[in-house]
Amino acid sequence: MFEVLRESIESLGSFVAVLDPAALDGVQAKEMVEDFAQLERLASAGRTLVSGRVAETGARANDGPYRDAGAWMADVAGTTIGRAKATIEAATRLAALPSTAAAFRAGSLSQVQVEAISVAATANPRAERALLVSAATDGVRGLKDACARVEAAASTDQAERYESARVRRSLRFRRISDVEGSLEMRGPLDLTARVMAALEPIEGNLFEEARASECREEPAALAFDAMVRMADDSATVAFESGGSRAPATIVGVGPVPVDVLQRLVHDSFLKALITDGTDGLSVSHLGRTIPVRLRTALEELQPECVIAGCHTDRHLEIDHNVPVEEQGLTALWNLNRVCRHHHRVKTVKKLRIVGEGTNKRLVPASDEPP
Ligand SMILES: [Zn+2]
Repeated sequence: MFEVLRESIESLGSFVAVLDPAALDGVQAKEMVEDFAQLERLASAGRTLVSGRVAETGARANDGPYRDAGAWMADVAGTTIGRAKATIEAATRLAALPSTAAAFRAGSLSQVQVEAISVAATANPRAERALLVSAATDGVRGLKDACARVEAAASTDQAERYESARVRRSLRFRRISDVEGSLEMRGPLDLTARVMAALEPIEGNLFEEARASECREEPAALAFDAMVRMADDSATVAFESGGSRAPATIVGVGPVPVDVLQRLVHDSFLKALITDGTDGLSVSHLGRTIPVRLRTALEELQPECVIAGCHTDRHLEIDHNVPVEEQGLTALWNLNRVCRHHHRVKTVKKLRIVGEGTNKRLVPASDEPP
């Protein structure tokens, strides 16, 4: 059963191995491309039809570490799992579409054409003939449009289609390499269009800026910049309008419970400290004395020993994380309230405190992140 196939592969292999394009004239080259395209369509047809059988029998289960037939075929054919699954699905649908299957077997349809037709003709089998005609005359782009029209017409309930687009909605972040990422947003047309509409005025501004600096940017690149600017702007607005997250984090202190914040904001000095965490630096100095207000802030923020798991809340001492002797500043970010035990351990073993809030740890000074 395999003989014809294997002999063909072998003789084709020898033929291609010594093929010398330079020896062909233009007409011969053109003819040969047509022949190879025909061969490719036949190979696609054979591969597609048989791959359905592999999925059906579950044969690949005994054949290595593959999750399913799609993963197996992606590996065998050197393609993506998505493409391989589309092929297998086409094979399944072809069983109910004899005319398309026959045209595929005859080498008159490509893989892409068969996948498009099989989806649309499954939605409306009466359109199968017309789609086959379209495949022969309209090119791949024209065929895909025709298929989209057939699918849209076949689906009578638009609300249902909208709902299914809504259910499938997604925003996916993908890491492409160590320097490049990708975002793909997919969902109901009006909602995706709404995002693009919101970008438009920002894009307009960026376009003017780019023109002023005489640097030409592609529209897609400007849209990207607009998206980033929109994200930056909304983060700023959230911070300025007292959104719950950003202000509740104090540099060097970490997240602060909202009720503590509310008590602290009555003190205008602490208010400044909290609204802008870096203000903790402005009250820093090289001395060991801790200003009363800084002490009050610490007492509010660290009601117990800051070391995780230690809930001692009496006789706490204030430790300079980077010691004063080593130019450690008397500033909020460098101060921690600790129990006597943890204070002594830290000093004797020359440790540093790392972490957030009252959930910190002691690590060797050399391990402390800069
Ligand atoms: Zn402790």
